[in-house]
Amino acid sequence: MAEAKPEKLLVDGRRLDGRRPDELRPLRIKAGILKRADGSAYIELGKNKILAAVYGPKEMHPRHLQQADVAVLRCRYNMAPFSVEERKRPGPDRRSMEISKVIREALEPVLFLHLYPRAVIDVFIEILQADAGTRTAGITAASVALADAGVPMRDLVAGISVGKVDGTVVLDLMKEEDQWGEADMPVAVMPRRKCITLLQMDGNFTPQEFRQALDLAFKGVEQIYEAQKEALKEKYLPSLEEGR
Ligand code: UDP
Repeated sequence: MAEAKPEKLLVDGRRLDGRRPDELRPLRIKAGILKRADGSAYIELGKNKILAAVYGPKEMHPRHLQQADVAVLRCRYNMAPFSVEERKRPGPDRRSMEISKVIREALEPVLFLHLYPRAVIDVFIEILQADAGTRTAGITAASVALADAGVPMRDLVAGISVGKVDGTVVLDLMKEEDQWGEADMPVAVMPRRKCITLLQMDGNFTPQEFRQALDLAFKGVEQIYEAQKEALKEKYLPSLEEGR
């Protein structure tokens, strides 16, 4: 059943879940949780729960899909039927195909695809529970999973959404804000290089609000980048220290 729009999304500078406009939801990232994938990661961002798995680089089959001089990056974003309020019909749809495409484009700039001609790198992003911001949290998890797979990378990619609710620019929209707010702008960034690899927008910002939203996104990305590095250190530092 569709929920009614709350009268206000911001009261005395606080959001529906008590956050201030510039606060992220609670964030947890874990690297390397799937035994049979080459690399994997799990992310929780607020109520979002997302798994990312990487297979490859491996020889591309069928062969006619091979590229003679580079590896192909293949991404699949998939929402579980039980991940949302109203059961999601299983299988691909327009939205998941679009999101898979923009996720691929957001990740490609950090990879050295020319190192693996005729190969494929498969990235699976499984949304187990959704509460807005799944494409950006999926990108965050996927880049940790790629690093976990040992795929050489220029940088990680960290994603977050920013938007506008009740006339105020806010970081990391939750479902109600995504649904009832005035603007939603998912952004993905290569944190060390400060390059944007994804920027989409639904709704309206003034030029000044856009600037403010972008600044807020970069601040959010810094926190996410720290959590990504921590997740990788948590998995790999103990074995590195043992080997010393
Ligand atoms: N959503 C849903 N059913 C759907 C698609 C989306 O309930 O079939 C919800 C889900 O919580 C999702 C949110 O709407 O996270 C926002 O979706 P959007 O397309 O903006 O993508 P996202 O913000 O998750 O990247």
